Formats: sequence, structure tokens, C-alpha cells
Amino acid sequence: MSRELIKLKKEGKTQKERVTYVLFFADGAWVCGEAFLGGYIPTYSQRVGDLIKEGFPIARSTCSNKLHHHDSSIGSYKWDFSMKGTVNA
Ligand SMILES: [Zn+2]
Repeated sequence: MSRELIKLKKEGKTQKERVTYVLFFADGAWVCGEAFLGGYIPTYSQRVGDLIKEGFPIARSTCSNKLHHHDSSIGSYKWDFSMKGTVNA
């Protein structure tokens, strides 16, 4: 688990704040939904949806990491630094 996730577990107040930090600090890398579950953010999917609605530049896809063995398809998300969001974070 990354240092950011551990820090957020301690300091992140809401699940939405933790989702924001995890994505931002991933530095443009795709973050599998499992990482959010590991960071105690069970509602990550809804929270990402909220952030996108608010104008944050977040891209959504399905996790295609072959090293992950999900029972079902699971979302993957990234902060798209090339995308112009309407919110400056
Ligand atoms: Zn995955």
C-alpha cells in the first residue's frame, strides 16, 4: 500500500476527499477500484462519479491489469492531467 493511502486512511476525512487524493497522487496512473477498497473507500465508484460531475478531470475505464484476478469487472480511474477540468485542484 502506498504511503499516500496510509496517510489518507489516517487523515482523509470523507471518502470523497480520500478518492481525490488517491487519484491526484497517482500522478496520472490508472488506479484499480481494489486500491480504493484497500484504502477503506467502499463507495469509491459513486464518489468518482460525483467528482466528474463537479468538473474534475478524471477518466474512467475497466481494470485490465492481468495480474489482478477480479471475480467481476471492476472500475479503474485516473486523474487525466491532459484533460482540462473545470475545477482547479
Ligand atoms: Zn484491478
